[in-house]
Amino acid sequence: MASFTLHGIPVSRGIAIGRAHLLAPAALDVKHYLISQEQVEAEVLRLQKAIASVHKELQTIWNELPKDAPAELGAFIDVHALILSDPMIAEVPLDIIRTRYYNAEWALVTQIDELSAQFDEIEDAYLRERKSDIQQVGERVLKVLTGSASTLPSHDGGDENAGRMIVVAHDISPADMLQFKDRAFGGFVTDLGGQNSHTAIVARSLDIPAAVGMSNASALIEQDDMIVIDGDAGVVIVDPPPNVLEQYRELQQRLMRERKKLGKLKKTPAITRDGTEITLLANIELPDDCPGALDSGAMGVGLFRSEFLFMGRAGFVNKLPSEDEQFESYRQAVVAMKGRPVTIRTLDIGADKPLDSAEQTALNPALGLRAIRFCLAEPQMFLQQLRAILRASAYGPIKLLIPMLAHAFEIDQSLAMIEQAKAQLREQNKKFDPLIPVGAMIEIPAAALTLPMFVKRMDFLSVGTNDLIQYTLAIDRADHEVAHLYNPLHPAVLYLLASTISIGAKAGVPISVCGEMAGDTRMTRLLLGMGLREFSMHPTQILSVKQEILNTDLNAIAAQTKKILRTMEPAAIVSAVEQLREL
Ligand code: PEP
Ligand code: MG
Repeated sequence: MASFTLHGIPVSRGIAIGRAHLLAPAALDVKHYLISQEQVEAEVLRLQKAIASVHKELQTIWNELPKDAPAELGAFIDVHALILSDPMIAEVPLDIIRTRYYNAEWALVTQIDELSAQFDEIEDAYLRERKSDIQQVGERVLKVLTGSASTLPSHDGGDENAGRMIVVAHDISPADMLQFKDRAFGGFVTDLGGQNSHTAIVARSLDIPAAVGMSNASALIEQDDMIVIDGDAGVVIVDPPPNVLEQYRELQQRLMRERKKLGKLKKTPAITRDGTEITLLANIELPDDCPGALDSGAMGVGLFRSEFLFMGRAGFVNKLPSEDEQFESYRQAVVAMKGRPVTIRTLDIGADKPLDSAEQTALNPALGLRAIRFCLAEPQMFLQQLRAILRASAYGPIKLLIPMLAHAFEIDQSLAMIEQAKAQLREQNKKFDPLIPVGAMIEIPAAALTLPMFVKRMDFLSVGTNDLIQYTLAIDRADHEVAHLYNPLHPAVLYLLASTISIGAKAGVPISVCGEMAGDTRMTRLLLGMGLREFSMHPTQILSVKQEILNTDLNAIAAQTKKILRTMEPAAIVSAVEQLREL
């Protein structure tokens, strides 16, 4: 077969080379037939049993989640369990069997198609993504009905080619991704998904090369085709010519050697050539991530996304973690970091991280009641979290970070509630750090444009470039259809970033960047040139960024950075940033 190349969205870095294993959607070839009136109740029972069996299957997967599984996996399984219980899936297909005499598979597919069509008409990207959850749940039930319980090849552990299996699918549910965790496989390619779709999030946390949003890759690629995934470029090459394959093998080997070499930098301090010390911190989702953060040489945690405690631990019953449970998690993190500071961000729920996706009704969730807005609207829940964080501060250095602030009154209300939580703890004779530093995420353009309002009130600032870019450019960060417009180098983004860093520095307020830009080595020198001295990122990125820092002389990049910040032409910015890396 002739070689061809497909382009999609890069979501997880590295090179994967291997044979395609196609995961066919079960819905494609179900039997369609009419049943007689006498067969109706037996057919209804068959469907009910299949649904019950999938419930059990999900419960088993949930119970058997490995301790180190990404926290969000539990939440994804919960979403599927909720969908399965919904009358739209659990009851309407039964009515279709009773009224139209369709066989169970046909009735189920009819209802899934009907629901999918309704979802297609919804503009909201988050809700559109829920369509694939419904389809994945439907496929699970179909697999049980048709007796093909698993579409994954079994892994005997002894096949050396298994490590090079590349999974190709229309979409992969996070629960199915979990099954890949125990199987050796090299990467995956999906038709659907965006930069921040559930599957992409899991791939990144598992550190596996992946490309998503490939449109119809699963139709074009055939079983056992040779495939190369260039996870950095979001490119998939099918049946590459021998010379191309060889080049990628060499690149893959080189990347592995570089990775190994980087390991030697773990204990090296991050100091620029001219002697300026830079602080490299880790972004974590759960306390269990702390040992990995320490191992990568992180000087502390710059961002603990506390919402993952709420999403991941909810279990089958959607209930929030108690103050004591939260306290235990925060305490565990600060103890694990052995005296290094842990920055805990208060609940940033909403948008692509809903607490209960079944109840998500906002038209524009990213612009809705998320993060601090949600917390201020739920004062008891917020006070509970604040008390838990404060109590943990008696066990080591904790900083409190508030997300999505834009208004002075939000800052003032948050600070007042922190004081209220402290007063409540004093009444209960519970210990905490009375001088706990409180900081703000700068991730809404309005915040970046009114920084003096923040520096006056806050002990430190942390720039969330993921949301800052989303809100500055009006690009939904989870929507693959506008992914090409999501540009960290847009002059408007650079202007906001540079002015935030410079005003913060002039005011003597410590400032860090904790969005994805901080872990992107292509941006390291630019951020250093803007005056950034504290970077927080996924632990796997720390050593690469450190290497970039060790090779940088701040005096040598000053003039070029200024030039970039004066430029308004996108192409000129891109080439100037590339030149900056050559200096
Ligand atoms: C950000 O917005 O850049 C950020 C770090 O927060 P999150 O990605 O969790 O929204
Ligand atoms: Mg954010």
